[in-house]
Amino acid sequence: MARHLRPVADDGSDQLDAPLRDIVGKGGPVLEKTRGIRTVGQLLDWLPRSYLDASRPVAFRELPHGEDVVVVGTVVSARTLQMRNRRGRRLVADVSDDAGGVIQLTFFKPWGHEERLRPGAKVVCSGQIGHWRDTLQLTHPDYAVLSAAGSGSGQWLLDGLVPVYTATKGLSPIVHGDSLDLVLHQLQELPDPLPEEVRSSVGLPGLLEAYRLVHRPRTEADHRRGRWRLAFQEAFVVQAQLARARRSADAVPAVPRVAREDGLPHALRQRLPFALTDGQEEVLAEILGDLAREVPMHRLLQGEVGSGKTVLALLAMLAVVEAGGQAALLAPTEVLAAQHHRSMTMLLGPLAEAGMLGGAAEGTRLALLTGSQSTADRREALLDAASGAAGIVVGTHALIQDHVQFADLGMVVVDEQHRFGVEQRDALRAKARAGSSPHVLVMTATPIPRTVAMTVFGDMEISTLRELPQGRRPISSFVVQAERSGWVRRTWERVAEEVRGGGQAYVVCPRIGEVDDADLPGSAQEGPGLPIPPTDQARSAGEDGADLLEVAAAGAGSGIPSLHGVHQVARSLRELAATRDLRIEVLHGRMPAEDKDAVMQAYAAGRVDVLVSTTVIEVGVDVPDATTMVVLDADRFGISQLHQLRGRVGRGGRSGLCLLMTQGQDPEGVARLEQVAATTDGFELARLDLETRQEGDVLGATQSGGRRTLRFLRLARDEDLIVAAHEAAWRTVEADPELAGHPALAAELDRLDQARAAFLERG
Ligand code: ADP
Ligand code: MG
Repeated sequence: MARHLRPVADDGSDQLDAPLRDIVGKGGPVLEKTRGIRTVGQLLDWLPRSYLDASRPVAFRELPHGEDVVVVGTVVSARTLQMRNRRGRRLVADVSDDAGGVIQLTFFKPWGHEERLRPGAKVVCSGQIGHWRDTLQLTHPDYAVLSAAGSGSGQWLLDGLVPVYTATKGLSPIVHGDSLDLVLHQLQELPDPLPEEVRSSVGLPGLLEAYRLVHRPRTEADHRRGRWRLAFQEAFVVQAQLARARRSADAVPAVPRVAREDGLPHALRQRLPFALTDGQEEVLAEILGDLAREVPMHRLLQGEVGSGKTVLALLAMLAVVEAGGQAALLAPTEVLAAQHHRSMTMLLGPLAEAGMLGGAAEGTRLALLTGSQSTADRREALLDAASGAAGIVVGTHALIQDHVQFADLGMVVVDEQHRFGVEQRDALRAKARAGSSPHVLVMTATPIPRTVAMTVFGDMEISTLRELPQGRRPISSFVVQAERSGWVRRTWERVAEEVRGGGQAYVVCPRIGEVDDADLPGSAQEGPGLPIPPTDQARSAGEDGADLLEVAAAGAGSGIPSLHGVHQVARSLRELAATRDLRIEVLHGRMPAEDKDAVMQAYAAGRVDVLVSTTVIEVGVDVPDATTMVVLDADRFGISQLHQLRGRVGRGGRSGLCLLMTQGQDPEGVARLEQVAATTDGFELARLDLETRQEGDVLGATQSGGRRTLRFLRLARDEDLIVAAHEAAWRTVEADPELAGHPALAAELDRLDQARAAFLERG
């Protein structure tokens, strides 16, 4: 029976960390083995999935067959029978629900049960409900006899709402419920990370009370109140963490960088072939305002693909250069780094040729630093960064390495920030002059719903570009189901037509093929094989251009796990009548950097018509003549990813076309693609994405800088709560930065820091 909680600290703070074993007796080892639950806190944090109303018990005959159930009833008869064909006896007890329904409990080893299951005994039983002939049965159920005295095992089933937890093999709901009872009865008031004034102003119960409301509610309102409080605490703690991080970042001042009115940014604007949109002007003003301050900028710039973020970043970097500093732009891939370097060099023209013949006197220089450069190129880039000769250094992760130094790093731009972790951003920040912080601008083309922004980027100001520059043409999107051979044929004909009309096409595949592609998205471990076989099973090219689609039909039912691979698709397209005259190249992450760069440049220059690639082109790649995007096995990609891919086309003056091909049979998957096809509003898609994904995926291990799993919060649902928690937490930290008056909150934040440090070490 119940033992006593270990001695607690004066403030009761170690109660939640107390080992469960010591408190709940036999339930302890079972909970540990089945769910990995070792502490009181872990037990309490496993919340019910739903509730049943014990005052309105389900009649037995309505119980769902084959499912795990918990029932309460009275033993009406019990008898031990000799088995006919085998040696041994069996115990059969009939339990009635007092509404005419009867369940038969059967035990093939009656020993020990006969004394307990006497007629008249009130029992709770749990097990998988089955039936034999017309009789409902529970075979070897787990059960407890309720004592008349109203205490002991299973009593919690008898009043209020009965909590139902995710069924767990090997764990009896009765043992689990009894364990919770022991814990809830013995806990003393818990130290509360939520400050008293926050609790009373929002109207929240205390922590222990919240656990009671959730696990032992009397009414629906009870458990909702308890859950809301737990979710609020979670959001509050996250926000307090962000608020403190922001405070400590702000503590190291930045050098204000104010550009002259007629300086470099002005010179670039004179050269641009377009005028900035109103939205761009607004955001630029925000950024320049930040740069002029001594508080380091922490700004997130989000905007649709093609909304013109890069040119703003360039103008801001020039302002820093103009004011005597340097700027670094961190890109997630070599393709993107090279492209930024190329397009910025082009936009800047003579402004990027300082010290060179014909260069503008007031200009600067650009350096490119990537991991795969030749030693000579790298040495030159490193030198230019360290000497300050390069005002702007563009690079990949190579920028972060220890030996990379800057003369005076004033600003860091992180492009497509979701590809980086907080640690990488911090490593780059540390390269500013001792005692100063650089200004930081992070950019993302993945629109972020407000709740995610507050939870992940709550320590940053946010700027949003909502409109695309004038003249951007709309993109039409269609779902192409692979079993409709006519549609598939049209797809490739359309590609050829676009090319003949002066456009270019991307064909994106989920894997490379012909090499070990286990680490690509959508690779084999993700589920059953798709019905289209690899295209290299195609017969040699026919005359009517129907090969790719005939292959599709032929492969149906073959059961071969077969996602389209870059190499096979390129080969098939080179053979297909409709496309064989086109200039087709492949691009994927396993190619040597020079090859990738050469292919990208050839494509950008219009010397390639069709680029068959993996998602290496997902982010940022900007080729104005690309008009068509075909995504094969589109159901294997996430909503945001498809949106990103689609953003690669329609960037010039021509309208874009996006064809999402799928062999998937799953109606939900097809519906998801239809949703992507139906709107190009990135915010709408981000919201959809949020609803269909797990919180963990949304935050991502890298985005949150360590594994910040949300247990109670639902980002798609809890907007009001997150906003309220944000305000309360920032107010609390502002009023008491050291949290001297809030020891429980400080302890909770320390605990999270330690967990994060441990996670990073394991890394
Ligand atoms: P993002 O980085 O947000 O995806 P980019 O900065 O790459 O977008 O811009 C996409 C394209 O649009 C580039 O070719 C860029 O030069 C061009 N562009 C940017 N701003 C404007 C504007 N105001 N008017 C016309 N074209 C623009
Ligand atoms: Mg970009």
